[in-house]
Amino acid sequence: MRIALALLLLVSPAYAQQATDSVAPEAATSLVGEVSAPVTSDNWMVAAANPLAAEAGARVLREGGTAADAMVAVQAVLGLVEPQSSGLGGGAFLVWYDAATGALTTLDGRETAPMAATPTLFQKDGEPLGFFDAVVGGLSVGTPGTPMLMEEAHRRWGRTNWGSLFDEAIGHAEDGFAVSLRLAMLVTEDAERLATSEATAAYFLPNGAPLQKGETLRNPAYAATLRALAADGADAFYSGEVAEGIVATIRSAAQPGVMTLDDLAAYDIKERPAVCVEYRGADVCGMGPPSSGALTVGQILGLLEPYDLATLGPDSAEAWRLIGDASRLAFADRGRYMADSDFVPMPTKGLVDPAYLAERAQLLSGDMALTEVSAGSPPWDHAMLWADDRSLELPSTSHISIVDQYGNALSMTTTIENGFGSRLLAPGGFLLNNELTDFSFETHSDGVPIANRVEPGKRPRSSMAPTIVMQDGKPVLVVGSPGGSRIIGYVAKTIIAHMDWGMDVQAAVSLPHLVNRFGTYDVEAGTTAEGLSEELTALGFEVSARDLNSGLHAIAIGEGLTGGADPRREGVAIGE
Ligand code: GLU
Repeated sequence: MRIALALLLLVSPAYAQQATDSVAPEAATSLVGEVSAPVTSDNWMVAAANPLAAEAGARVLREGGTAADAMVAVQAVLGLVEPQSSGLGGGAFLVWYDAATGALTTLDGRETAPMAATPTLFQKDGEPLGFFDAVVGGLSVGTPGTPMLMEEAHRRWGRTNWGSLFDEAIGHAEDGFAVSLRLAMLVTEDAERLATSEATAAYFLPNGAPLQKGETLRNPAYAATLRALAADGADAFYSGEVAEGIVATIRSAAQPGVMTLDDLAAYDIKERPAVCVEYRGADVCGMGPPSSGALTVGQILGLLEPYDLATLGPDSAEAWRLIGDASRLAFADRGRYMADSDFVPMPTKGLVDPAYLAERAQLLSGDMALTEVSAGSPPWDHAMLWADDRSLELPSTSHISIVDQYGNALSMTTTIENGFGSRLLAPGGFLLNNELTDFSFETHSDGVPIANRVEPGKRPRSSMAPTIVMQDGKPVLVVGSPGGSRIIGYVAKTIIAHMDWGMDVQAAVSLPHLVNRFGTYDVEAGTTAEGLSEELTALGFEVSARDLNSGLHAIAIGEGLTGGADPRREGVAIGE
């Protein structure tokens, strides 16, 4: 026993904090700058957006827990230390590779529109509300899925005692944790909106002043909720005191919402078929509808398949012309066809049909940026006409990648949508999401219905793209990111950098971003990506330099494990 303990202490985890890892624009002209070496390990690895959360997961993995067990511990801590991004009051999508069976499973823990929601939820006098007018308050809150997803993943794939998985988070919530720089910064930036609700203001703006970096923050209400979850499972969230607190908060908000206790009691996790697209001989697999993540990432890669990106390399404007326009074509289909397929017929298979993608890829065969981009006509079984979607997504969210010692892999993107969600803090000590604003505020366009309009019991379309890349039936890469609809570009870029350009996962994650969704080419400000602006403009793109706040966490699985954490945020990869 003593020897084992001594060994444990000696083998300190490979641990990398990437915060200083930015690419100096003037130091290099190549996109590929100096970045830290990736974290490597032999047995297990966890990469998540906050060191305390990753450490909680590492403890579980070290003690023999599975990736599902570790996820519960990571999520419980993230909800405390990174409350603006994800938590019990939100939703998530999870992709799981099961080493024992070789099966890939995707679970949908997306927030759901209450039964009393109508297609005009975000309209006033027939006009769509302004985005933040809709976000702040009770109207935007969807029935949370994260607590039930944690329980479901543990029920299916866990082997550690459920109750013990909350110990770390309860400890930090009761004893206090040091507010991180990012949390402090975001509170300051959002102070005005946080002040709109009394309970939210009391927590984030104590005595009227924004939380400061390094300040010790305690959340006894959250600790009590976690204790209830630990003792009674997700039921303790979906009924009883916690549920009543959620509904009371939503209903008494300045802009009240329509959620009831019945909505919470009726919530369910949905297992969905994984969406996989072949790319360079591997299968890129992820979350299907209601997420547009795997379909749009898959379309981008499928459209690029005929083009030799490897030879072009990351510094070639031609490579980025192809990637940018492949992405615009994919976003055109996303806007037209993608929504919750439980509610609207969707050509899910047709959208990633190899023949359809091969034909559409020919649109990229010219030399210049496309002057016109519109949705294609994927093959499908139901004749349906949809109008293009008009919903907005702004970045917050968090991504967790885990591989355990048994060879299971987990990729989970978890969110409360906007930074600080609806800005409503439930009495249980967690923020409530604003996920319903991922629906289109408008119901029709020129008389044609929009697939992603609000409907009771429906799940808003997402961009979250938790991904596992499979080679010969085995996982080789686990990746995902926050970033609103730019998630799709971040994830596609990381896969291309790793698979086509041979970069290790840390270099692939750190590589400056160039993201195109609807026409404007966003290049990452302050990085060497800006160096491509002129050439991209000459190719016919409208280029805009801006901050691109991804939060990629990736693990490559080869001889051993290699992890990368996004230098743009506070995350780490830990492995042993
Ligand atoms: N609500 C977004 C989605 O589900 C995610 C928001 C974000 O990444 O910041 O796609």
